[in-house]
Amino acid sequence: MKRLLTFVAMLLVVVSVSAQQQAKYIFLFIGDGMGINHIYGTELYNAAIHPEMENNGRVSFSRFPVRTFVSNHSSSSLVTDSSAAATAIASGVKTVNGYMGVDADKRPVKSVAELAAERGMATGVATNVAMNHATPSAFYSHAESRSNYKEIFDQYVASDIDFAAGATVLCRRKSGITPQDCVEQAKEAGIKVVQDAREAAKVRKGRVLLLGKDLRKKTLEYANDMKEGDQSIVDYTAAAIEYFERTAKKSGFMLMVEAGHLDYCAHDNDAVTTFEEVNHLSQSVQLALDFYKKYPEQTLIIVTADHETGGMCLGYKNYKMNLERLAWQKHSIISLTDKMRQLRLAGKTSWEDMQSLLRSELGFWIHVKLRKKDEQTLRKTFDKYFVETAGEVVSLYNHNEKLASTAVGILNKRAYIDWISLDHTGAQVPLYVKGAGVEHFYECYDNTDIARAIAMSMGAKLER
Ligand SMILES: [Zn+2]
Repeated sequence: MKRLLTFVAMLLVVVSVSAQQQAKYIFLFIGDGMGINHIYGTELYNAAIHPEMENNGRVSFSRFPVRTFVSNHSSSSLVTDSSAAATAIASGVKTVNGYMGVDADKRPVKSVAELAAERGMATGVATNVAMNHATPSAFYSHAESRSNYKEIFDQYVASDIDFAAGATVLCRRKSGITPQDCVEQAKEAGIKVVQDAREAAKVRKGRVLLLGKDLRKKTLEYANDMKEGDQSIVDYTAAAIEYFERTAKKSGFMLMVEAGHLDYCAHDNDAVTTFEEVNHLSQSVQLALDFYKKYPEQTLIIVTADHETGGMCLGYKNYKMNLERLAWQKHSIISLTDKMRQLRLAGKTSWEDMQSLLRSELGFWIHVKLRKKDEQTLRKTFDKYFVETAGEVVSLYNHNEKLASTAVGILNKRAYIDWISLDHTGAQVPLYVKGAGVEHFYECYDNTDIARAIAMSMGAKLER
């Protein structure tokens, strides 16, 4: 009898351990372009200028039990692009920069979202950039090029993705197809298309496509440009969680959330906006943590990045940082560019007009004292690239006024932050994991290991 009881007790332990290890609710957060300095910089920035924040401004995932680094090179370069990195994270396979959901020989590779759907789980992707941009697309599509937007969108329509959210649907201008055409196509396929996160949250059954309120905009508003009524990745995450809690509690789900904007402002070398975008990611992860508290033994939360963008440097000179100075930047560099262009259009091209704008937008001269050299640089850039010609700094996604870029660069340097690139770097990226199946992530060294670990956490295997 005693032996039998011991055996039953052991069996119970085995059953409970394996039950604990299986993840039923999986959250994968990807900060596009988010290097370790973007995260630590955000925490230092929060501590300096957001004293009201809890935990001294630490991001919500800073204390996850797994905190490690993964390499992210693609099969064609030590410096990856977003589609090759997303393919590696989604499918565990290295591919060529620009390829989407296919291996280096252009053969389709199964993503963990497709694997989850095969196993009867619901699946979702959400981003604050276009829903068929590189990162979300790697979870549901397979194309020779990340720029085959219509082909990628067609594959989304034909996919099992239950919840998709993004700012808009990208289309090639020359094709003559508009985002509205894609909306109609989705509706004809029986997908409910809404442009308000609260509406998406309330859907009780069937597939949902949540888009931004203005489909002409390729991204939602930046975290520091949002106005009353604007939606963010935090709203999208909340909507996805509510939708899945209502529709997929029994089946389980896998949700990928991308903070895609983060990469855009890092390409622009705009530190304040980058930090505020990391804060939005942190708030989105907090929503998953709130969900985790309800279902701790079945919920897995992963936070990682596809690559580092900009080569952000904290404390580039003199053993100093002065992040308090960043408090005076009110909006993103895109918004500053718009305001400068409005001045030009209105014929307000005097140095005094520009000084007034820089005072209100960046706190120059009043709160942030400028060095003589900085003042000369600003004035020269103003004369040459604002008055004589309309000079631009072209980054991957934006064409910013050269003067806006120079002014934000000066503010960054006054805070002792600098950047070495307008592009991606080959730096390793962070990986944070908490919850059911966390043990599969201790051995992650490369981004391809993440997909394998996610599959194992579901109790499955990615066949190759
Ligand atoms: Zn990226």
